[in-house]
Amino acid sequence: MSGLFGVIDTKGSAEGIAKTAYYGVFSLQHRGQESAGIAVNNNGTFMVHKAPGQVADIFDDITLSALNGQCAVCHARGGSDRETGTDAIQPILIKSSAGNIAMSSDSVILNADELRDNLKSMGAIFQTNIDSELILSLFSRNRIGTESCEEALLKTMKDMKGVYALVLMTENKLIGVRDPHGMRPLALAKKGDMYMLSSENCAFDALDAEFIRDLEPGEIISISKDGVKSVFFEQDKTSEQRVKDGKVCIFEYVYVARPDSVIDNTSIFDSRYRAGQALAKEHPCDCDLVIGAPDSGNAAALGFADGLGVPYGMGLLKNRYVGRTFIKSTQEQRELAVRMKFAVLKTAVAGKRIAIVDDSLVRGTTTKHIIRFLKDNGAKEVHVRLASPEVKFPCCYGVNASKGTDLPATRMSVEEIRDMIGADSLGYISLASLSASLDGIHCGTCSACFDGNYVAGQEESSDSVHNVQYN
Ligand code: SF4
Repeated sequence: MSGLFGVIDTKGSAEGIAKTAYYGVFSLQHRGQESAGIAVNNNGTFMVHKAPGQVADIFDDITLSALNGQCAVCHARGGSDRETGTDAIQPILIKSSAGNIAMSSDSVILNADELRDNLKSMGAIFQTNIDSELILSLFSRNRIGTESCEEALLKTMKDMKGVYALVLMTENKLIGVRDPHGMRPLALAKKGDMYMLSSENCAFDALDAEFIRDLEPGEIISISKDGVKSVFFEQDKTSEQRVKDGKVCIFEYVYVARPDSVIDNTSIFDSRYRAGQALAKEHPCDCDLVIGAPDSGNAAALGFADGLGVPYGMGLLKNRYVGRTFIKSTQEQRELAVRMKFAVLKTAVAGKRIAIVDDSLVRGTTTKHIIRFLKDNGAKEVHVRLASPEVKFPCCYGVNASKGTDLPATRMSVEEIRDMIGADSLGYISLASLSASLDGIHCGTCSACFDGNYVAGQEESSDSVHNVQYN
């Protein structure tokens, strides 16, 4: 997953754009920590600063002062085995027949190989294997012979199969695109003369901007000095129908999004809390203390404790300064990595029956070490409760997932997984209860990793399933 942010001053002022862009992408850091970048448009001159690492390490007052402009697009990128190296860092800038364009994308284009081969046969040259470059190349080709950027984008959307959110900057517009399934979130906000687009509204809150609305599935929104205009992929559908047919990724609510965000009319924190309450009904347990697996398990743990009527407390602390550089090739090194990442509050857990609530269990490696760590620190029993169902199918839409054979739930029973991780009991929420926890959601959801229903289709080659490290 990636974090996308864009901002434009519709009165053409450059005041505050770089800082707004910085704080916007900084607020989306949880969506990707591999690399980040900001591109600005200063009266038609485009500049970009991007690098591997986290936002706060990449930008300082000097780099930001060089990023003056009236419009900016930003990107915070998560890990992917397909898009690697410094060439994959976004935003991407190109000079096309339609002028300068910069783009940040959060995408998986399922027919990328076919599209790339077609474009190559027509003379296109690619420097990277990333979707953004492909989308821009396709867009540039489609722009020839079309009246507007929006028309070229509609044509590009027709060519592409897959899931995506895009934030583009042309020489006079900021444009946001949400794919026809609405799988990736994208929202609009306003502050004074500035309009902003963001993957999550937590960025708007940080900037004290007023949230306007989520983009509809299949919407292309263009913002310029002439105002805000939208065109839609499926023009003949009503707005209500487009939203209803949307399939936002359910993992946004389980794990990806920040708890203070609201996506498609549902609060992330509230949905996780409700999932915890439902989990308490489906899989109660006798315990003395409920703790969360920090940080994405905390809201569900609160709901679980509430549902059981058992105290919620701190039992695990997360070290926020652990990077991704641990070498974890041996068992001992993996255990050390967990001990560096988490600290147990011994006085809170010793002698107690602990229920630990986590958002999900994919491989179970981290959970196994945490259970052992809790028991080493005196926990009498450790019961594991999961606020998402068993992950049985790989995600081919770019969200943290692993190949089918790596998923314990595809080949092991719940009891076998319980035994493998060393828990005293194990319970997963049902998909029906998880879906019910998204109370108020405007659209449908993708839950393919739980039920195998790939709403946006699948790639032809199983080798191209994205294999990103999970817990
Ligand atoms: Fe999200 Fe799972 Fe669908 Fe992937 S398969 S988009 S992780 S719900």
